[in-house]
Amino acid sequence: MKVLGIETSCDETGVAVYDTDAGSLRAHALYSQVALHAEYGGVVPELASRDHVRKLLPLIRQTLQESGMEVGDIDGLAYTAGPGLVGALLVGAGVARSLAWALDRPAIAVHHMEGHLLAPLMEDDPEDPGRGPPQPPFVALLVSGGHTQLVAVEAVGRYRLLGETLDDAAGEAFDKTAKLMGLPYPGGPELAAQAERGRPGVFRFPRPMTNRPGLDFSFSGLKTQVLLAWRDSGKTDSDRADIARGFEDAVVDTLAIKCERALDEAGCDTLVVAGGVGANRRLRERLRKMAVDRGGRVSFPRPAFCTDNGAMIAFAGALRLQAGQYEDASVRVAPRWDMAALPAL
Ligand code: ATP
Ligand code: MG
Ligand code: FE
Repeated sequence: MKVLGIETSCDETGVAVYDTDAGSLRAHALYSQVALHAEYGGVVPELASRDHVRKLLPLIRQTLQESGMEVGDIDGLAYTAGPGLVGALLVGAGVARSLAWALDRPAIAVHHMEGHLLAPLMEDDPEDPGRGPPQPPFVALLVSGGHTQLVAVEAVGRYRLLGETLDDAAGEAFDKTAKLMGLPYPGGPELAAQAERGRPGVFRFPRPMTNRPGLDFSFSGLKTQVLLAWRDSGKTDSDRADIARGFEDAVVDTLAIKCERALDEAGCDTLVVAGGVGANRRLRERLRKMAVDRGGRVSFPRPAFCTDNGAMIAFAGALRLQAGQYEDASVRVAPRWDMAALPAL
């Protein structure tokens, strides 16, 4: 079965074809709207919707061509139906539903966070090759721009929330911290690049909520700590890099401590990590060491599939379509959507 996946929940237009018979991707393409939103310092929802309208059909044509397929070769469609920006979601849902109707093929509404969560199961982890992707049960760390969650995954579609952020998401903390030190939008990857040049231990920030039990997170206070450190520093390039390093170490440490605690609580040694912050090099290193030290394993998507993409939506949708799940022809999206409400496979 060849499934066309469409992602339009925010500021990335992503399209991919996943082939269930081959067990692999045929092609994927991504168009990022970053340059469009940069002058506003954040995503402007109406501009995002309009740009998805402009880019989605050309991207679908390109992806089909790279897959060696005609539009009629599509066996099923998968699209992000939420959570996300309602106008942006409606573009992907409208196109996917229309194609499904015209081709008389099944289509499935995919939960964006389930897409992220299942991405590490799509292909071999390039940094841990030869073992094959992990299978549930495992613990998932979802660290993206809008979410920071620890989830016990008993099976595909059986998700139990173990803990989550009480305020900012980890990616949001990276972005806001970058902004207050004058780094260009979008700041997360930029801050990580600064941290690569920074010296460890010059600035030490707290590890929020690690000194008491529980699996929730809080990252908004860290931002304030950075603000004060930056204000009181000489504001040189090396100060910025050292502060970035101190911030990154604090976030990575906090996430690692909570992941280990979550594995203990779930009685499990397999961790999967997904979402944009999962592209962070130091986080990857740290979590790999933690998992290996306890005789377990950790799996990440390739960095390009940590941030938003169509491949994860094609894959998550393919699993559900293969299990016979699909929906009627109405175009419905859910800007807010609880992942625990999803049916099991
Ligand atoms: P959500 O999936 O929760 O709706 P989103 O789709 O905006 O949010 P993603 O696309 O998964 O989030 O990830 C984007 C986030 O990842 C941004 O906050 C960005 O700063 C962060 N990010 C990307 N690369 C890195 C990196 N190397 N280090 C740290 N953070 C990063
Ligand atoms: Mg994005
Ligand atoms: Fe995302």
